[in-house]
Amino acid sequence: RLEYAPAPESRDVVDIKPSYGLFIGGEFTEGGGPAFKTVNPADEQPLAEVARADEADVDRAVQAARKAFGTWGTMPGRERAKYLYRIARIIQERARELAVLESLDNGKPIRESRDVDLPLVAAHFFYYAGWADKLRYAGFGPDPRPLGVAGQVIPWNFPLLMLAWKVAPALACGNTVVLKPAETTPLTALAFAEICVQAELPPGVVNIVTGAGDTGAAVVAHPDVNKVAFTGSTEVGKQIARAVAGTGKRLTLELGGKAANIVFEDAPLDQAVEGVVNGIFFNQGHVCCAGSRLLVQESIEEEFLDALKRRLATLRVGDPLDKNTDIGAINSAAQLDKIRSLAEAGEREGAVRWSPPCSLPDRGFWFPPTVFTGVAQSHRIAREEIFGPVLSVLTFRTPAEAVEKANNTPYGLSAGVWTEKGSRILWMADRLRAGVVWANTFNRFDPTSPFGGYKESGYGREGGRHGLEAYLDV
Ligand code: NAD
Repeated sequence: RLEYAPAPESRDVVDIKPSYGLFIGGEFTEGGGPAFKTVNPADEQPLAEVARADEADVDRAVQAARKAFGTWGTMPGRERAKYLYRIARIIQERARELAVLESLDNGKPIRESRDVDLPLVAAHFFYYAGWADKLRYAGFGPDPRPLGVAGQVIPWNFPLLMLAWKVAPALACGNTVVLKPAETTPLTALAFAEICVQAELPPGVVNIVTGAGDTGAAVVAHPDVNKVAFTGSTEVGKQIARAVAGTGKRLTLELGGKAANIVFEDAPLDQAVEGVVNGIFFNQGHVCCAGSRLLVQESIEEEFLDALKRRLATLRVGDPLDKNTDIGAINSAAQLDKIRSLAEAGEREGAVRWSPPCSLPDRGFWFPPTVFTGVAQSHRIAREEIFGPVLSVLTFRTPAEAVEKANNTPYGLSAGVWTEKGSRILWMADRLRAGVVWANTFNRFDPTSPFGGYKESGYGREGGRHGLEAYLDV
């Protein structure tokens, strides 16, 4: 703990109600299913009770979205843009409150929700607001039109940002939406519902149905949903692909990852260490594109790992609302169990486990930053998505071997390359089977850039101009 630590961000900036309803047709309403509690993962205390949407509620939400589509879908783009700009500005005005709410519900450090999530959320709405009146002559083909009602299901790792990735392009194109947030992080989606009211968005354009997987499945299965957009695990993504097959619904899937962060011997050491740390420990490693496999060139393995461990010893794990915290809480007990069991598998299979000395809080869900060396490609920790603060280290000798190992995964969401040689970056980028390849940086996002996977990481792109194609017919 630093001597000059500023006071933690105050919980008082958020006004969490004891209970929340579903947001359907512009109003908060009760849910047909039993309400559930959302818990602060940093202290295991309930934050609020949240309504659970059953099939009838999902039907009401889809009907409200269908009705709203009648006017929203034909409204001039410049009119839709006004609402999106208004939403973006309200998000900026309420950014501090939303950041605290996100950190409370998710467990992520306030520095990340404040400096990464919230600015990106606002940026997505501003960016797609700018597109709303430019679709017709932008090369999408003749007479681009919205698809209708979009059913959107999102995960818990970037709750409000995943909402923004989905809602902003859908609305810009003239679709209406029914969104199902993750059951462990519903609060910022419900705050977004309030923002829709504040922005005077026409009722039914955005509907939020909270609940677990069965609520998501009801959204996906509803016959009056025209497009399904899902971000989450590959396992559920495959179930959704099967559910949608043969229905004529359009589908985009943003699924899991097992990215390689590849460090060559000529890389600037300090910068690469920072990039590897950010690559896997940002957001507790709850990142689909996390650099969970470090591929380091054999000639610098020792030097690099020494520097990496020295850096990890300075990371502070603890209270998400403390502005000095680098690593917050694991989002749920279930996720903590999954991380623990994969880490144990790593030890059983013979990899060497290391964590810096760090004392974890007594209550809440915590896992220390962890590095496994001596990892073989056959180990589960080299193949499976851990979705936690756990780095698996492998080595390579030649660029070709690095490419082969990086691509030796069913996933293909992202990769990182660290080298001073520009020609090598291009050579690698051509060969890496990943939707995004970062060079001398990692986890860098921008609303203007398309994002999405190869192979079992899914299909379709979100962000940028390509993100609009998923919501348009020509
Ligand atoms: P998950 O698949 O368990 O759940 C995601 C969402 O789907 C939740 O809202 C959940 O309630 C819902 N759901 C569960 N079963 C469903 C079903 N049968 N039908 C419809 N909806 C259902 O994933 P998670 O644990 O919340 O999130 C972690 C996963 O998300 C990781 O695998 C991560 O890589 C992935 N992810 C991918 C991206 C990307 O852009 N590619 C971004 C973030 C997270």
